Amino acid sequence: MRLGHFHALRPVCPACRLAGAPVPLSLVCIEDEQDEIVRAGVLGCEGCGARHPILDGLPILVPDLAQFLTDNLFYLTMRRDLKPGVAALLAEATGPGGGLDAIRQHVSSYGWDHWADHDPAESGPEPIKPGQVVRVLAKLLDGLPTEPEEGPILDLGCGAGRTVAELTERTGRLVLGIDMSVPLARVAQDALVGGHVAYDRRRGGLRFERRAFAVPTNALADVWIADAIALPFADETFALATALNLLDCVRDPKAALAEIGRVLSPGGACALATPFDWSGAATPFANWLGGRGGEEGDSAALLDAFLSDGPQAAGALRLSRPADETEWQIRLHDRSAMHYVTRLSWSAKTERSLSS
Ligand SMILES: [Zn+2]
Repeated sequence: MRLGHFHALRPVCPACRLAGAPVPLSLVCIEDEQDEIVRAGVLGCEGCGARHPILDGLPILVPDLAQFLTDNLFYLTMRRDLKPGVAALLAEATGPGGGLDAIRQHVSSYGWDHWADHDPAESGPEPIKPGQVVRVLAKLLDGLPTEPEEGPILDLGCGAGRTVAELTERTGRLVLGIDMSVPLARVAQDALVGGHVAYDRRRGGLRFERRAFAVPTNALADVWIADAIALPFADETFALATALNLLDCVRDPKAALAEIGRVLSPGGACALATPFDWSGAATPFANWLGGRGGEEGDSAALLDAFLSDGPQAAGALRLSRPADETEWQIRLHDRSAMHYVTRLSWSAKTERSLSS
């Protein structure tokens, strides 16, 4: 956690904010800090007494901390210094789809797309090119109808962190990425703050190869663990919110839209890309935004309704220009990639939506 981000964004206790009383978090103790970067410490709430850890540079700012730690203890405390041969043996012994294999596959796909263009050992042939996420973000930023007003930027569901780096380079502003995936947030933290990327790149099956290389850092970029449907920020903190592939990865997409609207300043802009790739594991079926039979089955139409005046409006965001689409691909291994058509959507927190 960069102290600059902590002081500029003034995070609030997520539990107290949900209860209607946003209490600023304070730094209770710093156990490991260097060059304004806190690697280990504790953030605390004077309202409810909650204590939130900063672990390997990642503050964990979720409302139900006990549940999150219980669900993620393996990822939070797993060793990261395993040599490639030992890591391979452990993954093979615990089997395909086991905890270690699932992490390696996930980090391989997103680590590669986000950062492989900086990897000097990267060479073809590949079914797709890395940096898909950079291209999709550029389309979102180029499509903004107006320049965002002054203020910091929130990148929700930042994954391995490349979008945060791109946003700082393109705008020169303070950017915070948030994600709930501990393995991906660790890749992002290492890259954005530590300046290095290390991950196992999948060749096929359980065959992986270790990749490690340097990437540029930027003091304007940081990543925290936080929940898009319970953001640890006061109202009107950000000027721009971006989210690639977030809505079909959260428990409650409509609540996430309302939260984004809440933390944007008046006139603040929101740019979303979503492939509407619903899964019951990420989003309970009852909360899917479309993706079902009947009149409410069209996800794109329902998203537009959530971002329009009317009974279905999901908070303060209103569409600011017509939606668009673009291709988006994710590498699985040497011979396979998933191919999506992702929807691009632009909205803003308008004066009109504020009064309604
Ligand atoms: Zn509290």
